Amino acid sequence: MIRYLTELSLEAFTEAARNVPYQQIDSDLFPGIDLWVRRDDLIDPLISGNKAYKLIYNLLEAREQGKDTIVTCGGAWSNHIHASAVAGQRFGFKTIGIIRGERPPVLSAMLQDAERFGMELRFVSRSLYRQRDKPEFLMQAGLADMDYWYIPEGGANLEGVKGVQMLAKVIRDTSPVAFHECWLPCGTGLTLGALTCGSLRSVELRGVAVLKGEAAIQQAATGWSQKSSKEFGSVQVLAGGHCGGYARVDQALIEFISSCQEQISVPLDWVYVAKAALKLKKSVDSRNKIPLQAQEQINVLLLHTGGLQGNRGRMVAF
Ligand SMILES: *Cc1c(COP(=O)(O)O)cnc(C)c1O
Repeated sequence: MIRYLTELSLEAFTEAARNVPYQQIDSDLFPGIDLWVRRDDLIDPLISGNKAYKLIYNLLEAREQGKDTIVTCGGAWSNHIHASAVAGQRFGFKTIGIIRGERPPVLSAMLQDAERFGMELRFVSRSLYRQRDKPEFLMQAGLADMDYWYIPEGGANLEGVKGVQMLAKVIRDTSPVAFHECWLPCGTGLTLGALTCGSLRSVELRGVAVLKGEAAIQQAATGWSQKSSKEFGSVQVLAGGHCGGYARVDQALIEFISSCQEQISVPLDWVYVAKAALKLKKSVDSRNKIPLQAQEQINVLLLHTGGLQGNRGRMVAF
């Protein structure tokens, strides 16, 4: 059954999060572990995955402060831009998306959606876009004299952290089994960092970097972790899972995605979730070199962080 987030309230969102299904995977692709996928891609068909969690407190805060416009930024296939445009239309905010690069003659499917959902797109040069974390960025992008709520790229701010902390609590309270490990893809590292807030104390978190520069992601995730919790500090970002770089695919990933399509009934996006799943598979395969009797049963959770709209883009082979 398809459910939509219909109301902007913490109660309604939390209820939706608690109803997200956990799907048990029975497949030879992942031998020797009890694997479950938490289907946060289904929290809403359009405000999907971890971006929904990063948005909720931003939207509540914008409303609380009486702002009627949300400004944010991203690239041509950003899941965050997509979710923000939909959320703006659904909950009555005007939205402005600052988009990296010149306006192309034909917009990506994501940007076409964003415009259809009413987002005003403002294209800025790549060199200006690189300044996005500087205080003067919004002014340079022409947004100085407006009253708006600004959300940084990817939803990476303290409101985003609060939303992911809520996800951690929901996972703690709704897990169908006691999980030993929780795997997820990492971009900015905020989701991984914020999940260390304490609710998932007994679970080992494993973030898979989906782009090069794993050390920087590790550092960023650690920073978000420190903002999320006083007690935690160490987060694990696994390297070597980017398959050629951000939004790139290599042969191993292409083959893995097609095996998944045949064997498990979970749609995977190839920019994020498929890379995390492949890295998990490689880890499982190397563990299985230890005789099975010597191992304890381990329960593993893979977070489906959404991103399926991005599958409309063209795969770029490495
Ligand atoms: C944005 C995104 C991520 C990365 O989340 P971070 O908090 O930036 O690490 C992972 N998966 C999907 C599908 C995403 O859209």
